[in-house]
Formats: sequence, structure tokens, C-alpha cells
Amino acid sequence: MTADTVAPVVFSPAQRVRAIGVSEILRITDHANALKRAGRPVIVLGAGEPDFDTPQNVRDAAVRAIGRGDTRYTVLDGSPAMKTAVQLKFRRDNALDFALDEISVSAGAKQVIFNALMASLDPGDEVILPAPYWTSYADIVQVCGGVPVPVACTEANGFRLDATQLEAAITPRTRWLFLNSPSNPSGAAYSAAQLRPLCEVLLRHPQVWVLADDIYEHILYDGLAFATPVAVEPRLRERTLTVNGVSKAYAMTGWRVGYGAGPRALIAAMAVVQSQTTSCPSSISQAAAIEALTGPQDIVAQRCADFQARRDFVVAALNRAPGLHCRVPEGAFYTFASCAGVLGRRSRGGALLHSDSDFCRYLLQDFEVAVVPGSVFGLAPYFRISYATSMAQLQEACERIAAACAALE
Ligand code: PMP
Repeated sequence: MTADTVAPVVFSPAQRVRAIGVSEILRITDHANALKRAGRPVIVLGAGEPDFDTPQNVRDAAVRAIGRGDTRYTVLDGSPAMKTAVQLKFRRDNALDFALDEISVSAGAKQVIFNALMASLDPGDEVILPAPYWTSYADIVQVCGGVPVPVACTEANGFRLDATQLEAAITPRTRWLFLNSPSNPSGAAYSAAQLRPLCEVLLRHPQVWVLADDIYEHILYDGLAFATPVAVEPRLRERTLTVNGVSKAYAMTGWRVGYGAGPRALIAAMAVVQSQTTSCPSSISQAAAIEALTGPQDIVAQRCADFQARRDFVVAALNRAPGLHCRVPEGAFYTFASCAGVLGRRSRGGALLHSDSDFCRYLLQDFEVAVVPGSVFGLAPYFRISYATSMAQLQEACERIAAACAALE
């Protein structure tokens, strides 16, 4: 073969990456944004990101950190000051006491979860994911060599896992149970009384660890009390990682700070993973997160009240649309409505709607509203709306959705 005839070099992604593909939510959002750039008035209700700005006191803290030269690597899994702020947060909000070496800080809750699975899963280990679940869980499990085990939680049970389902899903290979309350995408939350029977099952299966993703802790409505597994059942503490972060509560998605608290040995293994990936979270973002966690907290409740008004609006509007049905979510900033009532019908263009993906495609193409099908989160036929956007946008979007349903033949 001469230089002229050498075959072109083709990049072939690794098996672990081929297994997961591109995030469906990002794909839909990118497509919607491309339509917008082409001049179409698309409303995108896809992203799981507060539309509020990071509070001023938090931004000021970051500027001060830069000014005093806090611009170097910090301790691998969080500066002592940051870990102390996390320690204080757990005491204040959850009545939980963690030592500094039981706390890990990363570039977002997502990295905490990634580190935990990378540090703990052997090939073939199973992770129970109550569905609907945040899509990244399944992808991270797969990247780390594990096997996602989705368990469908019915709307009749408030999209919550029940004890019988949990018992039936556990096998000798089960390594983790993920619990996410309030949930992305369903908005469902567990009370302490609802967690209790799950804790009873877990106490009978000591090989199963619990990952409690509490990232939406502060976006909980109607005066409901937040509950987390370790606070409900202290005996689970030796095998629970409680994950949280500043992205949602303080509108700090771009700062990339999340944290977890759990058994020392797990936290140490997670630090090993982090040491060979990002080395440490950003020093400046940690300074900002310290202010978020330890500064004035009133903004958290104010924003929750704003989200609740939007929830009430969207749920009522969806329930008025012919063929749709929406359960009232307890928290987070998503609705997860059933579109079962519109399946089997046709758009004016003649397209038959077989699935929630078809319905979402129809909404985007014919009515210019981007939402995410429930199948992406492991439960169909539903669709998720993120209502972390202005009331004006939500009003317009809900009118279009109602018109889309009414236009079906
Ligand atoms: N958990 C859940 C359930 C989420 O919805 C998100 C963000 N979409 C995260 C974790 C990750 O948050 P971050 O990495 O920004 O802290």
C-alpha cells in the first residue's frame, strides 16, 4: 500500500461509550435550539436548570476569592472550609452529623455519583433504579460496568417505589438502590413514613447500599417535610451515600459544585477516582458554595414559592388539555404528565401517534414546544415539562399544548 492508498483513519469509540450514546434530553434540546436559530418561535421546556440568577452574595464571595488569590488546587475532595460548610448544612437542615472525612466535594452532584459508582461497581453489579429515573443514572451505571435494573413505579403509587417491588428487585448481585426525592422527572417525593417500609427491606439485605440523591431537597411544596433515608433509619448510615449540591437550590448549575456524605471507606475510594480525573473542584466555585450554604438562606424559600406558583399553573393547564392527565408533583421543577389519552390519534398532517416520543415530536414540529418523552426516563407514555422558566413562556407553551391536543383527529 502506498501513502496514496492508505485507508482513512476512522475513530471508533470505546465499547463503554457506544453503550450509552448521546443524552436524549440534550439531543432534543439541541434540535429545538437549532429550530430557534432558524427563526422558529420554539419554547424549550427541556432543560433541568433554574432560570433564576445565582444570588448576589454568592457571586460576591467568588470575586473576593479571586481577589485574595484562592486560585490554586485545593484538597483533592474539597477544601477544609468547604467540607465544614457541608457539615454545617447537614446539621442545620437534616440533623445529621458527618466528620470531615465522611464528606466528598466534586464538580457537581453528577461527579459525586460518577465517583461513587466508579469506586464501587464491579462488572455485572446491579443498580436498582426506580423508574421514572434521571437518565444519567442508567448511563453512569453502564459506563462504570454495572447493570441498571429499572423498576417501574406506577402513577397510582405516586411514582414511588414500594417495599414489595424493592424486595422483588434485589438479587445477590444488587450493589445499590438509588432514591431521588423529590424526583427528576416525576417531582414525586417520599415522606419519612413512605421511606420507612423501604428501609425495613434494606435492613434485611445488608449487601445493598443506598444512594440518596437529595439535590431537589429545597424545592418541596405545600409545607411537606423533607425526608432522607439516613435520617429515617440511622442503621443505614454505614451503607448510604447522601448526595446533594448547590446547582438547584441556589441556581448555581454552571459553578459545578456538589457533595456527598457517607462511610469513610467509600469517601476515600471516591477521592482516588477524583484524583485521576479532575484533581479537585474549582477553588473559586468552592468559595462561592461556602457562601451559598452558610450565608442567608431566605432566598431558597422565596424561589421555592415562585416554583410552586408555576407548578400550580402548569398542572391545572395540562389537566384542562383534552387527552392529558397530570398528577400534582410534590417537588422539583418538573411535571410528568400522561399522554395515554392522545395515543392512537392522528395529527392533521396524518401522522399516527403511537408513543410518547411521537407525541413530543408532534408538539415540537407542529406547535413549537420542546418537551421530553417519558420513555427517556424509563416510563411511558408520559412527557416531562421543566417549568423552570418564566410564567409568560409557560402560559404560551400550555396554550400551544392544549391546541395541539385539540387539533388531533
Ligand atoms: N441529580 C439529579 C436528579 C439531577 O436532576 C441533576 C441535574 N439535572 C443532578 C443530580 C446533577 O446536578 P449537578 O451535577 O449540577 O450538581
